[in-house]
Amino acid sequence: MSVHTKLYEGKAKIIYPTDDPEILLAVFKDDATAFNAQKRGSIQEKGRINNSISSKLFQELEARGIKTHFIDNPAANQMRIRAVKILPLEVVVRNIAAGSLCQQTGLPLGTVLKMPLVEFYYKNDQLGDPLLTRDRLLLMELATPEQVDSITHLALKINDFLKEFFQRCNITLVDFKLEFGLDSQQQLLLADEISPDTCRLWDISAGDDPNLRVLDKDRFRRDLGNVEDAYQEVLKRVLNEL
Ligand code: 5GP
Repeated sequence: MSVHTKLYEGKAKIIYPTDDPEILLAVFKDDATAFNAQKRGSIQEKGRINNSISSKLFQELEARGIKTHFIDNPAANQMRIRAVKILPLEVVVRNIAAGSLCQQTGLPLGTVLKMPLVEFYYKNDQLGDPLLTRDRLLLMELATPEQVDSITHLALKINDFLKEFFQRCNITLVDFKLEFGLDSQQQLLLADEISPDTCRLWDISAGDDPNLRVLDKDRFRRDLGNVEDAYQEVLKRVLNEL
């Protein structure tokens, strides 16, 4: 592959074009940010770990008929992906109350939700990624009503698979964030990544201790320590899942 200048640099990945306009290269970085990039740092081996976890999960989802942008891995921290136009939406699915849901509703941390909650946030750093209503989302034409319905259906299907998958890894899937994009045929593809950066993952074997159980980016956000160990542990369990 010839060397290209980068197309885009985000907080966790750099996207490069390739010789094929339908294919891009995502290089996963070790950089870590939180609270809209007000907190910055680095997590050793994060690029490689998140690429491996995401790649495995995307392949499992593809095997279950969910279309993703994943193609293959040219290197340990690299993913070849289908070029898509990312919809400016962060789609969050929650099974257990944590994070902003607790802050905004007063629900106690750890409350098991009777049904998974699917929420849409406006992917806009300047505005701080605000929670959207369906009407606001449609008003701003961030997606069509049909796309909103398809995304909701896909998000719940992805949650069903991921919840069971992580259960087999002895991990509770608390919540996670997804991003979707449209390819050149206007086909909706699951994009971005699914990793400890974008999911809340609680170690079942650690019991109810609110700090010990955390195997995700909350260790970085809340300065809990052992961030690398937690990411490595998730990778190990995901690759050895029964
Ligand atoms: P919350 O709304 O509680 O902050 O986040 C809910 C879930 O979505 C968590 O698993 C969190 O990691 C993920 N999430 C929400 N927004 C972002 C974001 O901007 N970046 C990343 N990496 N994850 C996010």
